[in-house]
Amino acid sequence: YNYHMTHFVMSAPDIRHLPVDTGIEVAFAGRSNAGKSSALNTLTNQKSLARTSKTPGRTQLINLFEVEDGCRLVDLPGYGYAEVPEELKRKWQKALGEYLQKRDSLKGLVVLMDIRHPMKDLDQQMVSWAVDVSLPVLILLTKADKLASGARKAQLKEVREFVQDVGGDVEVEMFSSLKKLGIDKLRARLDHWFSQ
Ligand code: GDP
Repeated sequence: YNYHMTHFVMSAPDIRHLPVDTGIEVAFAGRSNAGKSSALNTLTNQKSLARTSKTPGRTQLINLFEVEDGCRLVDLPGYGYAEVPEELKRKWQKALGEYLQKRDSLKGLVVLMDIRHPMKDLDQQMVSWAVDVSLPVLILLTKADKLASGARKAQLKEVREFVQDVGGDVEVEMFSSLKKLGIDKLRARLDHWFSQ
């Protein structure tokens, strides 16, 4: 798959407004500011496919991109932004859970977590929802360039140990948009999911 050919399809205010549930979808999720937009831009080699957020948590839209006919990347709204009202947070969590559990075309989930503080409550929730419905997960530990090599490896090891206990098909890799680290691993995983 040529991810450089990815183009924007549409934005949806919530999961009920997504296009028909056919083809193959891979979703990207993460806390606001985790580096999700940067990762999508790096993957697709486009400067502003996904908007990198100056104001974390502002974009509550689901953005859909198409790699090629029937192969979509779904950019889910960032979660965990402190200033979002409780009620909206709850609504979002419910919607995200439903999307993960009910979307037939969804074949994989990429969860992005800042390598300096991974596996926060909502991250764990995302992973556990996915595992519950046998949806494979790739965890990308983002901004790996921010840590020295030793600290980076220690974080990777810790998260890998954590997910081993969770069970399911969960892979963990380091990632840096800045240093173009982990892109090949991400591409290989997406290729695998799209070619099923
Ligand atoms: P999003 O809210 O998850 O979409 O996160 P963004 O992609 O907008 O990134 C949030 C902030 O982290 C921005 O200031 C980015 O420049 C920065 N950032 C993202 N990826 C990296 C990375 O690989 N390395 C470094 N050092 N900073 C990054």
